Amino acid sequence: MEGCCFEPHWPADDLLMKYQYVSDFLIALAYFSIPLELIYFVKRSAVFPYRWVLVQFGAFIILCGATHLISLWTFTTHSRTVAEVMAVAKICTALVSCATALTLVHIIPDLLSVKTRELYLKNKAAELDREMGVMRTQEEIGRHVRMLTHEIRSTLDRHTILNKTLIELGRTLHLDECTLWMPTCSGLELQLSHSLKHGQNIHAIPVTVPTHHPSIKDVFSCNRALVISPNSPVVKIRSQRGRYMQGNAAAVRVPLLNLSNFHMNDRTEPSTRSYALMVLTTPYDSVRRWHEHELEVVNVVADQVAVALSHAAVLEESVTTHKLLMKQNVELAIARQEAETAVHACTDFLAVMNHEMQIPMQAIIALSSLLQETTLIPEHRCMVRTILRSSYLLESLIKDVLELSRLEDGSLQLEIRTFSLAVLFGEILKFVKPIASVKKLSFSISLSSDLPEYAVGDDKRLMQTALNLVANAVKFTKEGSIHVMVCLEKMEFSSDPVTPEFSPVFDEHHFYMRVQVQDTGLGINPQDIPNLFTRFVHTDSATTRDHKVTGLGLAICKRFVKLMGGHVWIESEGLGKGLTVIFVVKLGFPDQTIDHRNSTASHIQLN
Ligand code: ADP
Repeated sequence: MEGCCFEPHWPADDLLMKYQYVSDFLIALAYFSIPLELIYFVKRSAVFPYRWVLVQFGAFIILCGATHLISLWTFTTHSRTVAEVMAVAKICTALVSCATALTLVHIIPDLLSVKTRELYLKNKAAELDREMGVMRTQEEIGRHVRMLTHEIRSTLDRHTILNKTLIELGRTLHLDECTLWMPTCSGLELQLSHSLKHGQNIHAIPVTVPTHHPSIKDVFSCNRALVISPNSPVVKIRSQRGRYMQGNAAAVRVPLLNLSNFHMNDRTEPSTRSYALMVLTTPYDSVRRWHEHELEVVNVVADQVAVALSHAAVLEESVTTHKLLMKQNVELAIARQEAETAVHACTDFLAVMNHEMQIPMQAIIALSSLLQETTLIPEHRCMVRTILRSSYLLESLIKDVLELSRLEDGSLQLEIRTFSLAVLFGEILKFVKPIASVKKLSFSISLSSDLPEYAVGDDKRLMQTALNLVANAVKFTKEGSIHVMVCLEKMEFSSDPVTPEFSPVFDEHHFYMRVQVQDTGLGINPQDIPNLFTRFVHTDSATTRDHKVTGLGLAICKRFVKLMGGHVWIESEGLGKGLTVIFVVKLGFPDQTIDHRNSTASHIQLN
């Protein structure tokens, strides 16, 4: 601020003075207005760090303004007081201006660094803005991907999954085309199966490309999405209107999990897996390039599609299996109904036949017996005896067949009551002894002393079973002996290796009785033993051919024994070495409060 006051002794030039006067006034006005502007600036800027410098600067300007103002009184003759005030003002202005100049020298580097920092921050802010933009785009894409995966998972139909994927991917990544290529049955080619551009009309352009094409091989050997050449055959597909140009393309493999991949012990290597191929193409005129985050999106979507496809495949498989099972169930139900009807018809038939045949059979037996009593010539007697024998055989056969059919359809129930074991085996002895003595066979029954006197069970069926086995022994033994041994079955029996399929359950109310029928007769080939309990099966040896055999007795015995909670089996060392049939049945201990004195008890050898 240069000195602007006139010395009073300078030559006066009125006009010049007037100009200076007005100018000084305006300068003073301007100087006074600047501090106001500065005050306004300081008030508005909250972060300005050098407020005291501004105050100093403001003071300097006010003082400059003041010197100019005071100089207005110096144009004319003025008093000494004016001169003194002017001098004081000038001294103050000089001091403050020097101080301001010095301060400025100090703070300018500071101000400069602030400026640099501000510039740096501005650049950073711009960079952050750009990153925010990318993040927002990624967030947007992420949202689209989430929506897309949700859409994909909301259905289990393979075609809907794929179509939705292409549409949503096209929208999210602003694609021109997105195609899906499925492997053919041979696995040597890929067939275009879905297209974003062609939609439902895809089948109008049957396109296949070989899987061994280098660009496809590259994609299949990498588990991430790859940018592929725009010249790849999967990018340059031919439309109905001819070949069209496309932009940059990326491709990713989509693993197709077949059902064998779910088998527990399947160690199939990934190399034997088949892959579908997804190709994504940007618009042709675009200068756009594939970004890393976009390829990441493609990877995520490809994985989701693979999972959704595998779910769809499992569902399709289970629906097919379900349908097949339903069909089989219906067929089985029909077959079962038919079988049940047949069994009922058979049982009814047998019951009627048994009843209807027994009456004439008994009549034949009775009349033949009577005829035998009369006087007959030897040939006629022989004939009558044959008639009688055949009638007895036929009668027993009829009974057996009915019994077996009742056993098989489950209509035969045990009749449980308390009976004496000694009496039961005494009956058997009385019955068989005469027949055995006719054949000159020794026959004996021994009851072990550890057996209870009475037992609870079906004595009729027990007797029938024992009689059947004893009768077989008599039938198939020419000479020697037949011995029946009855004893209590011990606990250790449960681990008998001969009868692994039978596991008895011991309790305090029941016991297991073992009956063993041993003969010195024909014996049997050990390999024939397992079949003997099958009905109508008998050995084809010359000796059995001499006897009238039906192959029903053992089958019936087995079912009776099973009904009685037991097990029957045969032991033989071979042909001509005799045979032992053993059976075990579960019987109850009798109630001690009941008086059984009427029944005869014996723990003895019966013979
Ligand atoms: P069947 O009523 O015809 O005797 P089984 O079912 O009782 O029929 O017997 C079946 C076959 O088992 C007989 O035909 C016979 O070959 C054989 N078998 C049964 N018991 C004996 C035995 N004690 N000795 C030799 N073979 C026997």
